[in-house]
Amino acid sequence: MASSLREANGRWAPSPTGHLHLGNLRTALLAWLFARSQNGNFFWRFEDLGDASKPTFCNSQLNDIALIGMDWDNEPIKQSDRLDYYLDALNDLKRQGLTYRCWCSRREIREALEAPHGLLPEDAYPGTCRHLSQKKIKEYVNSGRAPSVRLASNHEQVDFLDRQTGRYVGTVDDFVLQRSDGMPAYNLTVIVDDHLQNIQEVVRGNDLLSSTPRQIFLCSLLGLNQPRYAHVPLVLGPSSKRLAKRDGAITLSDQMNLGLKPLDITNMLLESLNLPTIEQISDLYYIPKEFRSQDLPKDPWIMNLG
Ligand code: GLU
Repeated sequence: MASSLREANGRWAPSPTGHLHLGNLRTALLAWLFARSQNGNFFWRFEDLGDASKPTFCNSQLNDIALIGMDWDNEPIKQSDRLDYYLDALNDLKRQGLTYRCWCSRREIREALEAPHGLLPEDAYPGTCRHLSQKKIKEYVNSGRAPSVRLASNHEQVDFLDRQTGRYVGTVDDFVLQRSDGMPAYNLTVIVDDHLQNIQEVVRGNDLLSSTPRQIFLCSLLGLNQPRYAHVPLVLGPSSKRLAKRDGAITLSDQMNLGLKPLDITNMLLESLNLPTIEQISDLYYIPKEFRSQDLPKDPWIMNLG
């Protein structure tokens, strides 16, 4: 490949909570294409700190990605093996005086959000536990109810240029850094790992666009590298909602049970991205040469799987 291209390592960071569906496979293919077309490495990371994660899905996901024809560099890593890194970052924020404990239940947050809360995003935490009296804190501590830990933000505005969606401006809220079960939360773990895995470009579904200002802001607080971002359109079911089981044969194995081969699925995904199919080009490895992110479809891909 041309050496004039700037190298950009990429990654794929699924949560092993189920079999990948066609939308996940298409996003993974895009992440692979962005990285490989920029001479970058492509790393795996399993974001397996959620309760619904199961080791068996790690194998099924790796297997499906390989069947589609993608490769990756290094052994996949698992967040459950890396808790110390995240807790170090959390302690750094605590030392900077940028955290507080929160005892709100989901219901309490929902109720508080029903009141108007200014310019903050829809799902922003309204700051209920930020200014608790010492008496109230003592009461909560004595109750034995476990708190989560939140960032004490100043509702900073973060403005960045996404490679797919363009300029995006978002407000940082007091989001969760550590869940009440003690596990570090997504917005913290993702930036620590992207930094440690030396990721230059994050490619993921645009359902995560609104979390990105939080992540960029945390990078600046912790002095971590800030990757570039490309948020790509999702794949939707016929009802224009996020692809789900009710939409029919949504996984690779569902499709193979209907008689399709992995190659047919790879071609279907490539066609949906306006890219040449394997027949036209002979091998998936040649596709990155043809790949120009500015030519990608900007709208979600609506699948009708029957
Ligand atoms: N684990 C997230 C997911 O499966 C992806 C996170 C990311 O790419 O930053 O949706």
